[in-house]
Amino acid sequence: MLTFKLCVVPVTVSAKYLKQLIRILFRFLWGSKWERVKRTTLCASIEEGGAGMINVENYILALNLKWFQKLLDESVVANWKQIEAPYLRGQRVNAFLNATISLNRAEVKRVLPLRTLRHTLVSCIQTLNLLKTKSTKRTLWLNKKIKYQSKTFFMKPLIDSGVMLHKHLLTNEGEYETYDNLALKFNFQANNAEFIQFIKLVSSLPEQWDSENYIDPQTTQSEHLLNFIKDTNSVKTIYTKLQDSVARVPVKSQEFWKNKLFINFEMPWREVYINNFNSTIENRLRSFQIKLNLNAIVCNQILHSFGKIDSDLCTFCKNATENVYHVFYSCHVTRTRVPLTLPPVNLLFGVHNGGSGDKLVNCMLLCARYVIYQCKYSENKPTVFRFVCFLNSVRVSECHVSKKRGNFLAYRKKWCRLLCTEV
Ligand SMILES: [Zn+2]
Repeated sequence: MLTFKLCVVPVTVSAKYLKQLIRILFRFLWGSKWERVKRTTLCASIEEGGAGMINVENYILALNLKWFQKLLDESVVANWKQIEAPYLRGQRVNAFLNATISLNRAEVKRVLPLRTLRHTLVSCIQTLNLLKTKSTKRTLWLNKKIKYQSKTFFMKPLIDSGVMLHKHLLTNEGEYETYDNLALKFNFQANNAEFIQFIKLVSSLPEQWDSENYIDPQTTQSEHLLNFIKDTNSVKTIYTKLQDSVARVPVKSQEFWKNKLFINFEMPWREVYINNFNSTIENRLRSFQIKLNLNAIVCNQILHSFGKIDSDLCTFCKNATENVYHVFYSCHVTRTRVPLTLPPVNLLFGVHNGGSGDKLVNCMLLCARYVIYQCKYSENKPTVFRFVCFLNSVRVSECHVSKKRGNFLAYRKKWCRLLCTEV
């Protein structure tokens, strides 16, 4: 519903509404107000170590950018474009995108009265900030460094004929062109009112622009943005590009596990994330593993430090501090009741050996972890029997789902080593 509305018109969603929406989504994800992992990390893709959670702000940005791209694309013919097109004629779009003042200011509203378009341009500038492409080019229009009586300049005839940068005002010898010469050079109609504005403009230019030697950087902000949205044919591609530039790999939790499990080799994190995710189609198992990857499983040690419970001792053995490593690996109750002789790194993150890993083995290990986790919460002791029952329930559920989705072969391929007479 929201997407539909945003596709039709580039609506600007109010910051308050957006904040509420995002809060609801994350509360739903965590099941409480307490968010244990940074939102930018959760919005990263599965293979990067996130949860593939939608970044609503970037999604709306992508929708707006797509609309803007259509507006600029001459091959897209539509009646609605006639409303906006006059305001984006010639170089004006560049002038707006290179602005260093807020586009919501009154002086901009005068030259660009269309609210929707202005908001979209604000989104574009927001995107540039996300991409961290700050331009240092000496642009002339809507530049806060060039003000006369606290107002910036926006001279339409000059902009339309391509006068955009400080260097355009100069002769080959580095002196300022006269207004008439500039009109000849850039082919615009000279007039008296504009002439006075021009004199004001030149007199307002920052002094150091004359004294410093300066080489313009290769690209302006507007060029960065136009390159960014060029050749992107769908909202999804724009969204993915945006996400790639903002989503954060969970370096902190990777470091944590490296130290905790004494990993002395290059951990293939991408494989770990993607193989565990693909080892099952059960969402509860997948989200449990993502929490484990991100060290976001809550144990008594943390609950005790927050004053939520009286003791930080392990639910199973009652004689050591309970943390993730203890519950899943070093606790003697876990070790005797779930007798798996694997190194801790494999118990917690599966067996990979390069490539896509063994789906069934990784699924079984994941189930074992999940049973331990469930038992901890229900204050039961983990047993092999519970594990076998749970594994079977996962298998039955995957069987139903795969039949429904029409990929029963994949199910058989994964489970064939455990299937004897059935099927
Ligand atoms: Zn214990």
